[in-house]
Amino acid sequence: MRGLIIGRYQPFHKGHLEVIKCILKEVDELIIGVGSAQISHTLENPFTAGERITMIFESLKEEGLENKCHYIIPIPDIWNNSLWVRHVIALTPKFNIVYTGNPLSRRLFMEEGFEVRIPPLFDRLKYSGTEIRKRMIKGENWEELVPFAVVRIIKEIKGVERLRDISKSDKITYLKSGDTSP
Ligand code: NAD
Repeated sequence: MRGLIIGRYQPFHKGHLEVIKCILKEVDELIIGVGSAQISHTLENPFTAGERITMIFESLKEEGLENKCHYIIPIPDIWNNSLWVRHVIALTPKFNIVYTGNPLSRRLFMEEGFEVRIPPLFDRLKYSGTEIRKRMIKGENWEELVPFAVVRIIKEIKGVERLRDISKSDKITYLKSGDTSP
């Protein structure tokens, strides 16, 4: 049996890793779809698809699981929810079962006749991309929420500096420069 889990992984965190470990007990092969693959360098989606794929692969390697997740596939968004599942099918090997906690993804796969399982949540308030990105911007401890491999990769690509840069407002920089003209 081949399963699919799809997420944005901005960034890949310990909650994602735990959920993948649980799913691997139920399926023979797992496809990890990296959603919103075309988006990067924004506050909600700071990391590129390539960076996210590396984070996932290296985290799985750290756990000795890299051979069990057979595919990590980037999946760009499309502007048509009713066609999205067809789009995912076109980009991935055949799968029988979908794992997602995202209500929209769940609904779309169910409407196309897929069995959808909701994976258990691991401390969702703490292990969430939103919380991690917030801590990165505020200079708080984000490292404890992600696998070691992800800490290493984010440091290598200067990911925190990128996020802080894109979180700056033009307006504030401009006013701070002392120029008050519009
Ligand atoms: P996400 O990274 O927030 O979550 C990925 C998965 O991990 C989800 O199933 C989530 O429930 C689970 N998860 C997150 N934190 C967890 C924790 N602490 N413990 C256990 N599990 C946890 O990503 P997402 O928002 O689910 O990603 C859905 C993707 O599908 C997005 O990229 C979205 O754009 C895409 N999508 C696109 C379309 C379209 O293009 N029309 C339509 C629907 C969905």
